[in-house]
Amino acid sequence: MTATLLDGAALAQEIKEELRPEIAKLRSRGVVPGLGVLLVGDHAASGVYVRSKTRACEDLGLHHETRHLSAGVGTDHVLAEVRRFNERADIHGILVQLPLPAQVDTQRVLDLVDPSKDVDGFHPENVGRLVQKRPRFVPCTPAGIMELLTRRGLELRGRRAVVVGRSDIVGKPMALLLLHADATVTVCHSKTRDLAAVTREADVLVAAIGAPGVIGRDHVKPGAVVIDVGMNRVTDKERALALLDPGRLGQFEARGHALVGDVDIRAVLDVASAITPVPGGVGPLTIALLVKNTVLAAAGEA
Ligand code: NDP
Repeated sequence: MTATLLDGAALAQEIKEELRPEIAKLRSRGVVPGLGVLLVGDHAASGVYVRSKTRACEDLGLHHETRHLSAGVGTDHVLAEVRRFNERADIHGILVQLPLPAQVDTQRVLDLVDPSKDVDGFHPENVGRLVQKRPRFVPCTPAGIMELLTRRGLELRGRRAVVVGRSDIVGKPMALLLLHADATVTVCHSKTRDLAAVTREADVLVAAIGAPGVIGRDHVKPGAVVIDVGMNRVTDKERALALLDPGRLGQFEARGHALVGDVDIRAVLDVASAITPVPGGVGPLTIALLVKNTVLAAAGEA
């Protein structure tokens, strides 16, 4: 058996195309959905993510604006920028690109985002609503994964789901969404004992760890659906040789780095029934859901 590759890029395109009529309707009422982005410092990956997100906005005719603050700014400066976006009628969604530099109080910044513009779903009010199963904005990565699982007909009700990772951004909301979809959910983290024994129970396994290739053959139950959230930059050649598909080695040689997931895809390909590739799996879905949340915010539907 070779696992089906779940094409996140294709589904992301589908989701974005579905938004076009709604965007056209809003525009005919004189409303152009607008996304305000706060980027602080020069974190290389953050810059890349912000560009992907703003490019998606452009493709669909959304307005976007990025406030790029220098790495040394204090919390008050970032709060002032959030306040400005909160007050702007033409900005419907606010994205604070994480991580913020260590001297900035991230929680205070996220808490200040107007909950009705909180398209990332990180504000405590939106987190609480998600917990109570009456969501407004749902964090984009887990929301994108749910779109993938449901639209591709992957059954969740009564199935065992294991989420590896318990971050506020991915692991926790993912676990809640799976629970709300009637899966029986276990959440693992760095202190979990015998991780493989737990993950081998999973019909649906979500890896949101942030370390390359942690999930190997022994971690996966035959026939499981594996969702790889990890986006890890590998620069070490030996690591690349161990983890990369031979077809991507040339790319690694040319660039000196490559993006890999938390799952050793080569090792699990003939154990799992379906798996998301990295890149081209969860990443594009996250972006599509951000655009969707921005459109919902502009429509006042969220
Ligand atoms: P965090 O670092 O916030 O969380 C990582 C989690 O993994 C923690 O809960 C940690 O446990 C757990 N963990 C770490 N090592 C192990 C281990 N060896 N075994 C079991 N659990 C472990 O990361 P994020 O949730 O923000 O992101 C996770 C990954 O997903 C990253 O690679 C990130 O780049 C990627 N990502 C991808 C997105 C996309 O669009 N594709 C969007 C967001 C993130 P503990 O809590 O005990 O420390």
